[in-house]
Amino acid sequence: MPSIDQAIERLYDLNVGIVGVGGERHERPHKPLLLLAVLDLLDEGLATPGSIPWCQELRDRFTARFEVVRKHDDQNTPENPFFYLGSEGFWQAEVTTEGSQAAPLARTPLVGEIGKVFARLIDGFDVLLAVPETRWRMREALVSRYFPTHAGVLLAPPASESADSEPSPGLLAEDEPDDGRSPAFRRKIVEIYDHQCAACGLRIRLPEAPDLNFVDAAHLIPFATSRNDHPTNGLALCKNHHWAMDRHLIAPGPDQLWHVAGVLREHRSSGEKELLELQNRRLLMPHEPAFHPHSEALAWRLERLIS
Ligand SMILES: [Zn+2]
Repeated sequence: MPSIDQAIERLYDLNVGIVGVGGERHERPHKPLLLLAVLDLLDEGLATPGSIPWCQELRDRFTARFEVVRKHDDQNTPENPFFYLGSEGFWQAEVTTEGSQAAPLARTPLVGEIGKVFARLIDGFDVLLAVPETRWRMREALVSRYFPTHAGVLLAPPASESADSEPSPGLLAEDEPDDGRSPAFRRKIVEIYDHQCAACGLRIRLPEAPDLNFVDAAHLIPFATSRNDHPTNGLALCKNHHWAMDRHLIAPGPDQLWHVAGVLREHRSSGEKELLELQNRRLLMPHEPAFHPHSEALAWRLERLIS
């Protein structure tokens, strides 16, 4: 059975499909939206982990959120994720036909099949999702990973969150536990950037330790401020460049170039050479345009660069 963290990693890695070109390139929202609707039904006792009905309540909850997050040519089709979640390994959909036993669902369900089509959680998700606290963590994970800009609408605000914990720029880092907070965010960023520092390009992989990561996953806008675990709010950075970015000594800008704090440029000692050479160097981007850092997040960093 997966641990909660392992289960959340699988939610971060849903095979959602990436569509569109240029500025319209985006991940399809359907699978995470359907899972949020399922969490609603479980919370309200309208479903159990062993029996999630294909029903109007589920469709309505999917649609309500879909209207909030839809992009470009996305279509309101809850039947698609109800079927295609079957490929994720923790979801099994079945249809009952008259007088016979349940059979695996072989295609997307029809509206007319309400009452005949059900899904159940398997592979340990059935046990994990029976617990309300776990459901809340999964809801938060789905929203912060797939719909961070709509977190206010999709999640009730956490009760004890201080109003705005945005750190003031300065030499003190925000001490964000970047790598401890979300192993799933880290894994996703490291994969997207193919283990390479977005500043210096260092990539170290040891064949005998394939899981040992040299790069960190750094949030652009700190999670405490943004509650945003979408890959477009992250960068893979080596330890040195992560340290320097967290202290606002270097910053990536919306021009997709690196910028170096004026305070360093004035020193001109050989010790800072490594950082100084970053000035105006191109940000090393992931191959997949849908995961390129968001320009707003880059601007947030650049605005805080020490002058
Ligand atoms: Zn580096």
